[in-house]
Amino acid sequence: MSGKRVVITGVPGVGKTTVIDASMKRLAEEKIPYKAVNFGSCMFDTAKAEGFVEDRDQMRTLDKDIQKKLQKLAAQRIGAMEGNIIVDTHASVKTPAGYLPGLPEWVLTELHPDTIVLVETDEDQILLRRIGDESRKRDAEGSRSIVEHQQMNRAFAAAYAMMTGCTVQIVRNENFLLDHAIDAMVTVLR
Ligand code: AMP
Ligand code: MG
Repeated sequence: MSGKRVVITGVPGVGKTTVIDASMKRLAEEKIPYKAVNFGSCMFDTAKAEGFVEDRDQMRTLDKDIQKKLQKLAAQRIGAMEGNIIVDTHASVKTPAGYLPGLPEWVLTELHPDTIVLVETDEDQILLRRIGDESRKRDAEGSRSIVEHQQMNRAFAAAYAMMTGCTVQIVRNENFLLDHAIDAMVTVLR
């Protein structure tokens, strides 16, 4: 297996995909090839084909054993990919049954991450971004519960580092400071 594997996480609405896309553009200019894979899209391909859901935002309400099965299949597909890979995913997913680990042991052993990045910002900014995003069915959540989710994600990331020896980096994606987030992300990916 070759290449660098960077797992990028963050609560819904923090702007992971935006930061990833802009960072990939910078890296392409530097001739550093990366492939970005969206873990949720990989799961959704199967979930939709099996008729479990019609929309990607319905997956987190599925029975947790089904979510885990979809998760394992996605991890196997992504784990088999070659080269430098960015995985756009979640340290934990908020489900009706509680926080579901995004990278349990059977996912980590497929992915072998070198680094886990936590994209974070202030809860009030996340709340407003979710309200403004009409393309997605984001959970209506108060700022306290966003704080809790970001705290839990740090705890999950520390556990993943313990299991794999991967490094953990926090990248802030604050309003009007996307360039700072991109600089920090590109430094991790380079
Ligand atoms: P996203 O577009 O990144 O918000 O992902 C869409 C959905 O995919 C999430 O709401 C989860 O249901 C699912 N998902 C993404 N990554 C994972 C993961 N590592 N483990 C379990 N579910 C995931
Ligand atoms: Mg996204």
